[in-house]
Amino acid sequence: MAVVTLLGIAQDGGRPQPGCTRPCCKNLGNEDLRSPVSLSVQTSGGKTILVEATRDLGRQLRFIGNPPIEHLILTHAHLGHVDGLGLFGRETMSARNIQLHCSPSMQSLVKKTPAWNQLLKQNVFQFASFPRIEIDDVVVEFHLVPHRDELSDTHAIIVRGKSNSLLFLSDHDTWRETLHANECDTIREFLAKLNVDIALLDGTFWSGDELQGRDMNVVPHPTVEESLERLGERLEKDPQIVFFHFNHTNPLHNVDSKEYNILTELGWDVGFETQQFIL
Ligand SMILES: [Zn+2]
Ligand SMILES: [Zn+2]
Ligand SMILES: [Zn+2]
Repeated sequence: MAVVTLLGIAQDGGRPQPGCTRPCCKNLGNEDLRSPVSLSVQTSGGKTILVEATRDLGRQLRFIGNPPIEHLILTHAHLGHVDGLGLFGRETMSARNIQLHCSPSMQSLVKKTPAWNQLLKQNVFQFASFPRIEIDDVVVEFHLVPHRDELSDTHAIIVRGKSNSLLFLSDHDTWRETLHANECDTIREFLAKLNVDIALLDGTFWSGDELQGRDMNVVPHPTVEESLERLGERLEKDPQIVFFHFNHTNPLHNVDSKEYNILTELGWDVGFETQQFIL
């Protein structure tokens, strides 16, 4: 069996967000720090697959005992998902021949970005299979999703093990577009079509109120409020749904908030770092 570990639950900026002087980031202790989203998949054969390369790699790999990384998956080019790529290079890990799995559009960005292209030339990374990866008892599939694609396209990841399948959907623009692109009317139908038992879903903002005057169109994500409205209560045969990718302003960071209570009362989960899923 394969083991998936959640290594980060924050949106790209992390928690605290640099420069934030609002109550959400004031007086945070070490125990309140959160890293940008990332996932490790450990196969039955002892291989480690990492999803996303964040700047907090040092903190995150400690959660799983610092194993060597054989495969790296990138979903898209936004800051928190790629800003740790350089950590694999000479200045830090001096890694070799890491199999890098990403879309052709992401590959071309890696080649065009001098600091990343150098990592290719130094054999830190080698482009490897896409959109399907098979390693030991695990199959990983890429699934295209609508998301503001200024730098690269965006994919969700589906990790299939022998007994369970898990969806990693950290970023998308709207449910309307994502469901439409998949010819589905509801989130349940969408998850059933992808045939997953566990779904990690974009929970960036609880509601539009968090943006404080910034336009939702500039940083589009479906709000958790909307997702819950669409989902209602968890029913017996529903998959486990875990929200993550929380902006620093999101009240779901706080287990004592009324929003945390509303979500869990409905039967859904709030992701936490080191959370594990057995596939
Ligand atoms: Zn993101
Ligand atoms: Zn803040
Ligand atoms: Zn993004």
